[in-house]
Order: sequence, then structure tokens, then C-alpha cells
Amino acid sequence: MLSRPFFRRLFLPYLLLICLAVGAVGVVGAQRLHRSYMEQTRSALNDEARLLEQLLKANLTPDRSVELNQLVVQLGQTISRRITVVGEDGTVIADNEADPTTMENHLSRPEILTAASLGQGADIRDSNTVHDGMMYFVRRVDGTDGGQYFLRVSVHLRDLQPHLRAFYMGIGISVALAILGSAALCYLFARRTARPVVELISFADALRHGDLTRRTMRRDKGEIGQLAAALDSMADSLNRLITRTRQDRAQILAILSSMSEGVIATDTSQRILLSNEAAARLLGFSPVTSPAGRLLWETVRSQPILQATGEVLSSGKRRRLRVGPIEGRHLDVIISTFPPEGQHEGLVLVMHDSTEAVRYEDLRKEFVANVSHELRTPLSAIKGYAETLRDGAINDPDRAPRYLATIEKHVDQLTNLVDDLLNLSRLESLPGMPEMVQMDIGVVLQKAVEMLRPAAARKQQNIACHIAPSLPLARGSPEYMERAIANLLDNAIKYTPEGGSITASAREEHDHVIVEVTDTGIGIPAADLSRVFERFYRVDRSRSREMGGTGLGLSIVKHIAHVHHGSVSVTSQVGTGSTFQIKLPAMR
Ligand code: ADP
Repeated sequence: MLSRPFFRRLFLPYLLLICLAVGAVGVVGAQRLHRSYMEQTRSALNDEARLLEQLLKANLTPDRSVELNQLVVQLGQTISRRITVVGEDGTVIADNEADPTTMENHLSRPEILTAASLGQGADIRDSNTVHDGMMYFVRRVDGTDGGQYFLRVSVHLRDLQPHLRAFYMGIGISVALAILGSAALCYLFARRTARPVVELISFADALRHGDLTRRTMRRDKGEIGQLAAALDSMADSLNRLITRTRQDRAQILAILSSMSEGVIATDTSQRILLSNEAAARLLGFSPVTSPAGRLLWETVRSQPILQATGEVLSSGKRRRLRVGPIEGRHLDVIISTFPPEGQHEGLVLVMHDSTEAVRYEDLRKEFVANVSHELRTPLSAIKGYAETLRDGAINDPDRAPRYLATIEKHVDQLTNLVDDLLNLSRLESLPGMPEMVQMDIGVVLQKAVEMLRPAAARKQQNIACHIAPSLPLARGSPEYMERAIANLLDNAIKYTPEGGSITASAREEHDHVIVEVTDTGIGIPAADLSRVFERFYRVDRSRSREMGGTGLGLSIVKHIAHVHHGSVSVTSQVGTGSTFQIKLPAMR
């Protein structure tokens, strides 16, 4: 406890006060005792002088001085006092401690002088005769001869010392005991007063260091009790508030981390307050080392974003920008200040991945360009032939049928293109998908072969069809599957010279149904193999167009295979032929 300043401030002044008070009482008491003891001794000397007066009276005459001296010696021994008899003229007549004949005249002694005038006198001083501190008492007495005498009784001060020392000792011990007792009481009192305060201080200290579970647990009465209760309820409120704040923060962080949008909040000096994993992923910084506390430019490397944040901070106006590619991604970033009204406290950056949107936008532009290009060629041909016919060729029996046939061919081409585009768009929109049923691929393949057989026959091509026995069923749309196989057969017929042969087959392989269309046609160069499934991709554009191709047939096949959770592939050799394969999961 003594190490506590509050306790020391309470205990030490009281202790000092008690020491001073008890010490003062001791000193005053000792003085009083000393005085009263001396007074008592003087009064005893007086009584003894009176007694001695009676005993010596008969001998108080000059002619009995020898007897008087003897008696004085005897009585002095008995009462342990120095007894001196002095004549009226100051001559010492008798003394029990010195030879009266050698003693000087005593008339000038203060106690004798006083007694001469008042009848009795007293003094304390060193004796010239015995050279010792003495207390004297003198009575003036009448002798039997009618003369006057001074009867002096005195005591050695050193004889009084043991008594006085005992007194002082008693007083000293009492003072010491009083101080000790009071100090102990004072200690207990100070401790009782200081302990709750010290406990409350250490409680407040624990609160300051974040220990919100501790309580004072004090049920004292009075102000300390009120203070303790107030501190306890303050700790309760603080605990609730902090728990709530933590929960809110955890909730916000959980929401932020589950967002696919990246979020970064900064203060007005662009120091990051918080950010989520999506922001780290999108902007390419490590989510493990939290960027909180770092400056925005230390984490975000995109110059357009940093420039925009500066502008938003100075103007207070929200900005939206598309940046990229950052780490191969395009981002849509919205930068605004918070709170939206009043004094800005910082910035919020919300970013989402627009790579897909940008890619679709590019694809859309490319697609529109391709479609326009595909449409323009037959349309300008039709327009050209129509103008030629209008300018007179219509009456030329030789040219008119040829031109009309060409116009018809280009219209067919346009029709093919529009049909293929419609098919593609239907395949890409899920609501346009037909119902998926259990289908027998053998039956579907057979139907497609029969449908294309006349076209093959026109080119003197032979189509063989091999369907493995007990082929498993597959889940899908027979109508779409037939279209896919028909596209492959159509290509095989188109790109195989007259007299060539085409084989269509269906078999089971590792839980899959495999459909293959093989031809002995012109084949596809290795460099083009990976691209033939792209929209509008053609190895030989004019040749394909000549054949009425649109460049969309194989991408339709690929789409159909994908919506059936299958795949399509090709192997080919220029001049030898090609094999297209559709692979679908089998039903078991
Ligand atoms: P197209 O309408 O031009 O046939 P596709 O998408 O069906 O368009 O085919 C894309 C290109 O792949 C064709 O232009 C052609 O060059 C090539 N191709 C497709 N099938 C064959 C095949 N069986 N033999 C050789 N080349 C083929």
C-alpha cells in the first residue's frame, strides 16, 4: 500500500500530525511533572524544616553549638538531607556535610536573604561548599537565647535524578506507545479510505487498456459506492458499444469480402481505411498484406484511377471511368466522396470487372462487321444484276435467264445466312432451347444421312452409315442434333470432289456416344484447324461462298454440342480428307 501515492498522501500527514501532537503532549507533560516534583520536594523540605525546628529548638543557643552540631549530623543521616544552621550574622553554626568552622559567611546566600526578610526562602543552585547542585529551603527560627537563626534543609539534585529519570522514561514509553497505536490506527484508516480509490484507479486503468470484462464489484455505501456503480455501468455500456461496433465492422467486412465488386475506402489524404479481397484481385495487389494504412498510390498503380481520385476529392463530384487492361482485366470504377452530403471524410472506390462486357462489346462489333460484310456481297451482286436486267438485258433471251439464276443463287445465299444467324441466336438464348429428351443417336444419324443422301448423289458421292449395336441413349434435342450432323454431312459433301465417299458412324466410347463424319475431300490445312469452329471463319472464302456456305455451319455445330454438354473436334489432312467428331455423354 505504501507504494501508492494516494495512500501515502493520506497516511503520512496524519502520522506526522499525530507524532507532533503526542510529542508536544509528552514534552509539556514532562515539564509539568518536573515542576510539580520539584514543588513537592520543596514542600517536603519545608515540612522537614518545621520538624527539625522543633527537634533543634532547645539547642539553638551559642553555648550549645557542639551538641547542636552533633544532633544536626545525626538527624541529617537519618533523613538523608544536608542540614545547615546559620546564625543571624551569617556565621555557619552547624552542618552535617562540612565543617562549619571552615565555611564562609552565608548571609549573602539568596535563600538566606529571602528568609531574613520573609521568614522562609528557597533556591536551587550549585553549592560553593560541597560543589554539587542542590535545592535549598531555609526557615528563620527563634533561638532559646532570644536570637534568630536560619535553619536550612537541602537535598542533592543528583538524589532527585533517578526519580525524574523514571518519570521521563514513563512519559517516553507512553508517548511511544501512543504514537505506535495512533500510527497503526491511522494506517488502518488510511488503508480503508485509500483501498477503494486505488481499486477504482486500477479498474479505470484496465478499462483504458481495453479489458472490458472487469467490474469493480464494490458495494460500498456513499460516494465511493456511487462512483463504483457509475464506473461499472459505464464499462457495461462501453462493452456493449464496442461489441456492437465490432459486430458491425465484422458484418461490413463479411459483406465486403463476399462482394464480387472491389471496394476501397480512403480518408481525405488518400490513406486506405479498408479494402476487400475483390479489390486486391481486380487491382492485382496481395490480399494477404492488408493495404489499410497505406497510401492509395502505394497500392493502386493505375494512373487514370489516381488522377480521377484527385479530381473527385477536389470537385466533390462522383466519377465513373473504365480503365484497363490491368492484369489483363478491364474495370468499371466509380469514385465518390463520403458522406455524400456535407464535409468529405474520404473517398470510396467501387470497381467491377467489365472484361466480359468489353469482350462481348468487341465480339458484337466484330459480329456486326462480319454480318454486314456477308450481307453486302450478295446484296451488291443482286443489285448489279438487277440493274443490268433493267438496262436492257432483260430482253436478251441469252443473258436474262443466266442473270436471273445468279440473282436467285445470291438470294439463296442470303436466305442461308439469315437462317444460320437465326439458328445461332436461338442457340445462344436459353429460352429458345427445345426440351431435352432421351434420344437414340442412331436414329438421328440415320435421318440426317437420309436427308443429305440426294445431295451426295448429285455429286456421285457415296454415303455409308455405320451404327454400332446397342448404342446407349443420350440426353438432348433430336431436332438440334440432326441439324448438327446435317451441317457436318453438308460440309463433307461440299468439300469432297465428285465421286468421293463419306462415312457417318455412331459408337460408344468411355461412357460417351461418338458421332463421326469422315470424308475423302480436300482437307483442312493444319494452321486453320483450330479456327474452323469460329463464326464466319472459312479456309477459302470464295470457294465456300461458291458452295453457298455462310461460315456459320461449324460454329452452330459447336454450340449444339455445348448445349448437350458435349464437344466437337476435327482431324484432317489436306488432299486426303477430314473427320469431324461429336462427343456426347451417354445415359446409363
Ligand atoms: P461454311 O458455310 O463455309 O461451310 P462452316 O462453318 O461450315 O462454313 O465451315 C467453315 C470452314 O471449314 C469452311 O469454309 C471450310 O473451309 C472448312 N470445312 C468445313 N468442313 C470441311 C470439310 N469437310 N472438308 C474441308 N474443309 C471443311
